[in-house]
Amino acid sequence: MIPYGKQLISQADIDSVVAVLQSDWLTQGPKVPAFEAAIANYCNAQYGIAVNSATSALHIACLALNVSEGDTVWTSPISFVASANCALYCGAKVDFVDIDLATGNMSVSALTDKLISAKQNNCLPKVVIPVHLAGQSCDMKAIYDLSKQYGFKIIEDASHAIGAQYNGNKVGCCEFSDITVFSFHPVKIITSAEGGMAVTNNQQLAKKLQRLRSHGITNDPNEMTEPSHGPWYYQQIELGFNYRMTELQAALGLSQLDKLDEFVTTRNAFAISYSNAFETMPLSHLKQLTQCYSSYHLYVVKLADEHSHLHRHIIEQLRSKGIVSHLHYIPIHTQPFYKAMGFKDSDYPNAMKYYKTAFTIPLHPQLTEQEQSYIINEVGKLL
Ligand SMILES: *Cc1c(COP(=O)(O)O)cnc(C)c1O
Repeated sequence: MIPYGKQLISQADIDSVVAVLQSDWLTQGPKVPAFEAAIANYCNAQYGIAVNSATSALHIACLALNVSEGDTVWTSPISFVASANCALYCGAKVDFVDIDLATGNMSVSALTDKLISAKQNNCLPKVVIPVHLAGQSCDMKAIYDLSKQYGFKIIEDASHAIGAQYNGNKVGCCEFSDITVFSFHPVKIITSAEGGMAVTNNQQLAKKLQRLRSHGITNDPNEMTEPSHGPWYYQQIELGFNYRMTELQAALGLSQLDKLDEFVTTRNAFAISYSNAFETMPLSHLKQLTQCYSSYHLYVVKLADEHSHLHRHIIEQLRSKGIVSHLHYIPIHTQPFYKAMGFKDSDYPNAMKYYKTAFTIPLHPQLTEQEQSYIINEVGKLL
């Protein structure tokens, strides 16, 4: 089977993890801060806070922005459930903004309309979480302008988008957001097995994220309520978690970071070949905005509406040919857990249209040109 996504692990990656195993530190050593500094430097952000998953990063990012009971967080219905669950962990409510069908990302016009009516009804969101679907940035400048007008904070869910660019800057520079979150799950662009990172330019947010990842404990005398009792002393000043990344994970992530640009270049080359091949077929792909350079975590194709009855059949047939086609994503609001809160399928019509026509085909750095030709051929035969 050709998987839709897969990690590429080199001998250098293996060696760097083995070196950690032979070192004094399996956790809370030098590799985690080195990985944080390297990612922050790569993205041109001030601070990086490594955690054990992007899900944890989203959770503490919401907490750092004071999301709590009585607040509402908005995100995209076309995402992994973690983009929405993070608000619920904080006791807040979740609502969704419909997507732009061309890009699959949060629609700026739907966001504008929803903000106008939320303002009238006095229920503006505290935080909006745009999700950079498949590795292409949302229109962050437009969303940022709205945040200034309506007074909300922004967390970019860039789980798909490390290595991507927006307006010539790296996703993660946080020019148009408070915090950006990356995932290092093995299907993502680079991996630390499990792992995630929050990046920010705000020192107060960075300190709070650091505390929340480790029990709410501080070692900084400036944050303590009384003078230190001695070298053993620390204080817990809020309720945090154990969301720490291990040294093994950080060593793998650091080593993988060396190949990030190469991975993204390879992914773009495969994506261009797919897009060229599909030009003559009744298929479309996610529109790429001129101000964006995607990291192409996923290659998503969409059937014409009149072929939507073939959607499931095509995914099943591709699988029967050894090609793992997938669907990113089932609209979050249609999950039973969310339906129980009152969401209806029809709440976000574009998300539902997308769900009836979109499918993902394999794209990862281990894909070969032969495999890609085979995939293009099989898709062509089915259409
Ligand atoms: C993968 C993913 C996450 C969660 O990442 P983990 O590191 O597995 O917790 C969150 N949001 C999106 C959009 C994702 O694709």
